Amino acid sequence: MSATIDLTSADARPRPAAAMAAAPAASQSKRSLLGLSRHDLGLALMEAGVPEKQARMRVQQLWHWLYVRGVSDFSQMANVSRDLRSLLDDKFEIRRPEIVEEQISVDGTRKWLFRFPARGAGRPVEIETVYIPEEGRGTLCVSSQVGCTLTCTFCHTGTQRLVRNLEPGEIVGQVLTARAQLGDFPEASTPQGAIVPSEGRLVSNVVMMGMGEPLYNYDNVKSALSVVSDGDGLALSKRRITLSTSGVVPMIEKTGAEMGVMLAISLHAVTDELRDVLVPINKKYPLADLMAACRAYPGLSNARRITFEYVMLKGVNDSLADARQLVRLLQGIPAKINLIPFNPWPGSDYECSDWDQIERFAELVNQAGYASPIRTPRGRDIFAACGQLKSESERMKKGDRLALEAAVAV
Ligand code: SF4
Repeated sequence: MSATIDLTSADARPRPAAAMAAAPAASQSKRSLLGLSRHDLGLALMEAGVPEKQARMRVQQLWHWLYVRGVSDFSQMANVSRDLRSLLDDKFEIRRPEIVEEQISVDGTRKWLFRFPARGAGRPVEIETVYIPEEGRGTLCVSSQVGCTLTCTFCHTGTQRLVRNLEPGEIVGQVLTARAQLGDFPEASTPQGAIVPSEGRLVSNVVMMGMGEPLYNYDNVKSALSVVSDGDGLALSKRRITLSTSGVVPMIEKTGAEMGVMLAISLHAVTDELRDVLVPINKKYPLADLMAACRAYPGLSNARRITFEYVMLKGVNDSLADARQLVRLLQGIPAKINLIPFNPWPGSDYECSDWDQIERFAELVNQAGYASPIRTPRGRDIFAACGQLKSESERMKKGDRLALEAAVAV
């Protein structure tokens, strides 16, 4: 949950959209099939005239082409008849977001600025998605909203008001586009069985940790993750999918029960007084409630620990007394604590803790029995690191925004 855009670094290597294969995204006139469940895909096909007795087989074909082969054009669906491809093309679309810009950090991290078409009377919107390659794995940090209703003071996204929620297809579209850009799909011309094995994938993990609060877009995130984790498609194990929340307490139990994904909590402070400032949703759902929800998270065990994210802010939350209180707070919760050196962004008021202090903090937490890795900042030169994402999408009209904020408030 956090994410922007400042493209000024000399180290970054921005590649303009013209250099990349990307579909234009001016407006969306046809219904997108991306992100639909199998059931809804079948209904859409039948509404378009596909006979009911064929629908199931057609859904399987489409699913394979979309999520195993990664095609983005009906014409590439070789085992679908020409007539049906034409029908599909008339009624639907499967295009992915337009890539406005791609930046590649000196450390290999990639950040894409994606544009989605306008919906209804709205305007096209832009979001950021980040890919972080690591030894033996690659993590895609996916956005759930354009902007955010929350205003976490250490987070750049928090300075961008909410424009709108992303649709399931727009969330899935980030995964598809990233995999396509990375060459993580087989060539469309290869034999049907020649798929990229799940073990060899570049995108091996997904974290809902980009722009927005995913639990304020619950239904769409749930639908999207169900597609992403479908074993006959993108097939990412739920153990490799992590949803990060700022602490929308009433939705946490439901998330574990219905989505079954790994949970991360954007914690950052160990007293209500400070967390009220850093993560203002804490005023609504204070630490005691949040910790109780974590203790009750379905499936919680030593093998399925909760990750607590803790950004290290110099002189704010990085004392050894804070570390001791953190240990007390997490008592009894199978947990891992990710210590995140603060990633500055233009206009931010905070400084990153001194490295020595981060190490002392980590050691104390570690000695208490919790894994507490210090996250190496990734993609700082392209503003792709934690808490740095933001897009310049137009704000929605105030009345519409307030209505949406009221609708998502739990
Ligand atoms: S850290 Fe806070 S402000 Fe930033 S995206 Fe997450 S919920 Fe929104």
